[in-house]
Amino acid sequence: MKFYVRTYGCQMNVEDSNEMGRHLKAKGLVETQNPDEASVFLVNTCTVRQHAEDRAFSELGRLKRWKAKGPGRKIVVTGCAAERTKEYLEDRFPFLDLVVGAKSIEDFPRMAERLLDRRDTDEELDYAVRAVDDKVAAFVTIMRGCNYSCTYCIVPSVRGREIYHSVEQILSEARERVREGAREITLLGQTVNSYRSGTARFADLLKAVATVEGVERVRFMSPHPYYMTDRVIETVAAVPQICESIHLPVQSGSNTMLKQMMRNYTREQYVLIIEKLRKAMPGTTLSTDIIVGFPGETDRDFRETLALIEEIQFDWGFIFKYSAREGTPAANLECLPQELIEERHQECLALMDRFAQEKRSRMAGATHEVLVEADNMGRTRTNYKVYITGNVAPGEEVRVRITNAQRPTLEGVIEDGNITFENFREESRSACTNRGQ
Ligand code: SAM
Ligand code: SF4
Repeated sequence: MKFYVRTYGCQMNVEDSNEMGRHLKAKGLVETQNPDEASVFLVNTCTVRQHAEDRAFSELGRLKRWKAKGPGRKIVVTGCAAERTKEYLEDRFPFLDLVVGAKSIEDFPRMAERLLDRRDTDEELDYAVRAVDDKVAAFVTIMRGCNYSCTYCIVPSVRGREIYHSVEQILSEARERVREGAREITLLGQTVNSYRSGTARFADLLKAVATVEGVERVRFMSPHPYYMTDRVIETVAAVPQICESIHLPVQSGSNTMLKQMMRNYTREQYVLIIEKLRKAMPGTTLSTDIIVGFPGETDRDFRETLALIEEIQFDWGFIFKYSAREGTPAANLECLPQELIEERHQECLALMDRFAQEKRSRMAGATHEVLVEADNMGRTRTNYKVYITGNVAPGEEVRVRITNAQRPTLEGVIEDGNITFENFREESRSACTNRGQ
C-alpha cells in the first residue's frame, strides 16, 4: 500500500509531513511520488496567507476524482488550515476520510492507525518494511506553537502556545536521522531560539546537537531577533558544525510598523544584531522575511523597509504581500488597496533580488565545501544550492569551485583538497576584508 504527500507552507510543515510519513512507513506503507499509485493521499495544509489556503482547498476539490478512481482510496488532510477550518472542510468535502488539525499532530499515529484499520480492501498492509528516511539534510522539530502575538499572524491560534521537546528527545531524534543517513540537521521552531527545557536554553541545545556523532552541519529556522542574544551569537560563531547562514525575519524596516505588528524589537536593535553576527561569523549569509502592505503602512514606512534592505544588503529574502487572516488583531484594521500592495511588493522584490544577484555573482570562482544531498545537488555551508559536475554520492562533502553563479542554483566542479571549518572562516574573513565590509 502506498501513500503520497503534498505539503503546503513552511519548513515546519515539511517536517510535520516527514514525521507523519515516518508513522505511515512504520505501519508498512511505502511513499510514492506518483499519486496514481497511491492508496492514501495526504494533504498537509498551510493557512499563513489566504493564497496558500486557497491552493490547498482547490487541490482537495480535485481529489474527489482521484478517490473515485480506486476502491479503498483515502484522503487525509492535516496542518494549519485543517485546524482553522475543520468543520468547513468536512462539510464542503464530505469525501475526506480524516482531518487532523496542526494542534493534534501528536495524535496522528493513533488516528491514522484507526483509519488504516478501517480499510475496505485488504491490501498488503502487513509487509512491514523498516521505515527509512534517507534524507542527507534532515529537520528536527524542537518545539511546537508560538508564544508571540504578531498582529498579522494566525500561527499562534492554529498551532497553540509553545511546547518544547526535551533535549534528550531532540538528541535521540537527531541520532535516528543520522542512522538513516542524515549529515545535516536543521532545528525547527516558530521562534526556534526561544527554546527552553529545564535549565537548558537554545545555545545549550545547539552545542549538544553539534556533538551528536555523524552530525556535520547544524542549521536552525526561524530565530526571532528578540532571542538572538549575545550567548546565542557566540555559540553560533564558536561551534564548528553550525553553518554560516542565518535566516532572521525582520518583517519591516519601520519602527512604527514593527510596533503595530507587535514584533518586540526596533529597527536599530535588529541592525545591531546583524552587525554582531557579521563580526562574529565573517562570511555568513543573511536572509529575511518581509511583509509589505501591512494596514497603515505609509509610503514613508515602506521607504524605511527599502532603506533597511539597502543598509543590510541581505543575501536573499522572502517578500510577502500582507494577507488579512480572520481572527488576528490586524484583521480588524483597514487594508491598503490591493494595487498599492502589489506595487510595493514588486519594488521590494526587485531591490532584494538586485542584492541577491550581486552577492551571488561574487561566488563565481570561489571554492566551497558542498554537502551532496541528491542527484549531484548539494549546498554550501552558506546555504547556496549547487549543481556539481562530477562523480559524487549523497552524503559526501566535497570541495567545489563555483563555475556559474548566474542563477539561484549555482554550478560548480569538484576540486581536490579539504576545506576545514577554520580555513573556511579564514577565507571568508579575507574575502570580507577584500570587499571592504
Ligand atoms: N515564526 C517565524 C517568525 O516569526 O519569523 C515565521 C513564521 S511564518 C509561518 C513565515 C512568514 O510568513 C513570516 O515571517 C511572515 O513574513 C509571513 N507571514 C505571516 N503571516 C502573514 C500574513 N498574514 N500576511 C503575509 N505574510 C505573513
Ligand atoms: Fe507568527 Fe510572530 Fe509567532 Fe512568527 S513569532 S509564528 S510571525 S506570531
